[in-house]
Amino acid sequence: MIQLEEVCSSIDRACHDCGRDPSSASLRAVSKTHPYELVLEAYDQGQRLFGENRVQEVEAKFPPLAGRPDGMHLSLIGHLQRNKVRKAVQLFNRIDSVDSIPLMDALEKELAREDRVMEVLFELNSSHEEAKTGFPDDDSFFDAVGHLSSCPHLKLRGLMTVGPLGGDEEAVRSAFAHVKELYDKLNADGWKLDVLSMGMSGDYPIALSQGATELRIGSAIFGARDYSK
Ligand SMILES: *Cc1c(COP(=O)(O)O)cnc(C)c1O
Repeated sequence: MIQLEEVCSSIDRACHDCGRDPSSASLRAVSKTHPYELVLEAYDQGQRLFGENRVQEVEAKFPPLAGRPDGMHLSLIGHLQRNKVRKAVQLFNRIDSVDSIPLMDALEKELAREDRVMEVLFELNSSHEEAKTGFPDDDSFFDAVGHLSSCPHLKLRGLMTVGPLGGDEEAVRSAFAHVKELYDKLNADGWKLDVLSMGMSGDYPIALSQGATELRIGSAIFGARDYSK
């Protein structure tokens, strides 16, 4: 049994708590390590946005893009290696984890070859933990924004971040607030970004209070992940 309804009600409550209209936040269900049957169960309950973090897992688990149910939208939310770019653009509707100029160039080259435009998010390493992916600082992020003029096949929809793990609420809040500032800055500069993807099972109420428009929630919906298989 998945806990989709419960999570949706609790998102609604968290929205009310911080004075937001629940329709201003969408839920992306993160199905990594869980079977496709559970993805379909969520789909049958009305869920449309899904996230997975590994190209190989999606290749083995999901039908090809054209064979998926109507309106199902799958984002790659994990680190993308350049040698998996060709597969990734076949398997995902959006790449939410773009985090380097070489990766932008690899995506641009592949998409130009196929004459396709793809939506992407830029991922920020907002917690500055070394193990994390994402642009490491504001300078590298702004360089990448500038580099978009050389990537006509990439359409930037917004930003993504994983907050610091470990439970210090204030650290989480300030990391999310910083990414929201960057998002607002780009929009003030004329970008029309409309996706701010932040907040996971453990910290989504904080993300909502800091302006997230998309939450990525896995374990609260599908249960704990078993990596032993
Ligand atoms: C796994 C994952 C999530 C979901 O995490 P939960 O804590 O299970 O909600 C969200 N974002 C990213 C990038 C992930 O890898």
